Amino acid sequence: MKRFILIHYGEIGLKKSNITYFLDKLRKRLRFVLQDEFKINYSIKHTLGRFLVSLPDDFSVDDEAKYVEVLFKVFGIQNFKFVYESVIDLDDLGEKIWENLPDYVLNTELKPRTFRVLVKRSMPLPFKSIELEREIGARLLRRGIEIKVKMVDPEFVVDLEFFNDHSYFSFKKYRGAGGLSANSQGRFVSLISSGIDSPVASYMMMRRGARVIFVHFHAYPFSDKSEMENVKSLVGVLSGYQFDTKLYLVPFGKFQKSISTNLDIPSKIRTVLYRRLMVRIAERIARNEHAKGLITGDNLGQVASQTPENMFAVHDASTIPMFYPLIGFDKEETVNLAEKIGTFKISKLPCSDSCTMFMPERPELKANIYDVREYEKFLPINEWVEGVLKESEVINLK
Ligand code: ATP
Ligand code: MG
Repeated sequence: MKRFILIHYGEIGLKKSNITYFLDKLRKRLRFVLQDEFKINYSIKHTLGRFLVSLPDDFSVDDEAKYVEVLFKVFGIQNFKFVYESVIDLDDLGEKIWENLPDYVLNTELKPRTFRVLVKRSMPLPFKSIELEREIGARLLRRGIEIKVKMVDPEFVVDLEFFNDHSYFSFKKYRGAGGLSANSQGRFVSLISSGIDSPVASYMMMRRGARVIFVHFHAYPFSDKSEMENVKSLVGVLSGYQFDTKLYLVPFGKFQKSISTNLDIPSKIRTVLYRRLMVRIAERIARNEHAKGLITGDNLGQVASQTPENMFAVHDASTIPMFYPLIGFDKEETVNLAEKIGTFKISKLPCSDSCTMFMPERPELKANIYDVREYEKFLPINEWVEGVLKESEVINLK
């Protein structure tokens, strides 16, 4: 039987006049990830608010997991199913469904205890959806499915859609990643460390359609390269969620050293000064890259640098918008998402953290913006910002 991936998109469906912009981007992304992974040309048809992607003739149940992994990386998808294309005639259709039931459903030990048929209809038919559900369910029971029918919360669902003069049935619905089509919202620069938060923050913005350019400030040669290597791996994982990824590796240790040894600057204010400098350099990169804003993994109250006063003192150094997608998250929520998107394991790897190395023992919790600006006058900030990009390395990933 002919098989397809049947994709329903979520929020994109609410768009009005610019819906084709989002659908074109989603289609482009789908085509790219599938062809990149499986080296096959796919026909991707858009019909009645869905995408239908034709699967190769030799597609088998064993291939499903690989496809699922790839589709989880396509933003804009609400859910997807691996469907069989079939006929409208109910006797014939009931027989086809019976023949293709997953093995475990007929296995006395593994079989689910309850089931139902769920119909969605987008074409005129002489039956109501509920009648179709009952008819198909009755045929499966007659054929010997021997599972109790349960309309609410059944363990097994025979999913059936009718549209374009065909029926499409499947036995499992996968939740997509949600969000908006990749690259639909323009570019942003994300400040990424090897920690747990900033990779997740970057992902959250990608999910909303941001094309993320990464910048990492490293302390090499004052530290070893372990943190930088971890950041490269993290960006490697995140690059799977968008097109063409760029990572700037900016040498930052000498600035930290210079700030931490400056006798005019109280040690407790250092952290805020480091961050302000990072933001200034990131803004310079954003301007070069025509990016619309900066992203950080800040989370209200999580650490000393993330009190409202200190966040404001850091934000003060930027003249473009700063986005904090994790601002209201609990740590557990961030960790869960990090595990799901594949960054958690890397973020947990040991490394020499460039930020802790030049850290004061007692950082300021409520930086005063006017004081901070005054202390900065002891430093050649503009010269640093102007010069450092020439010393930075830029890595391009697919
Ligand atoms: P993370 O888990 O992302 O490291 P964190 O909880 O350790 O965050 P901070 O160390 O206060 O928090 O950093 C706040 C944010 O500043 C980070 O989420 C990240 O966006 C940015 N940042 C911190 N250190 C660096 C760095 N070395 N290079 C680039 N960005 C950084
Ligand atoms: Mg950190």
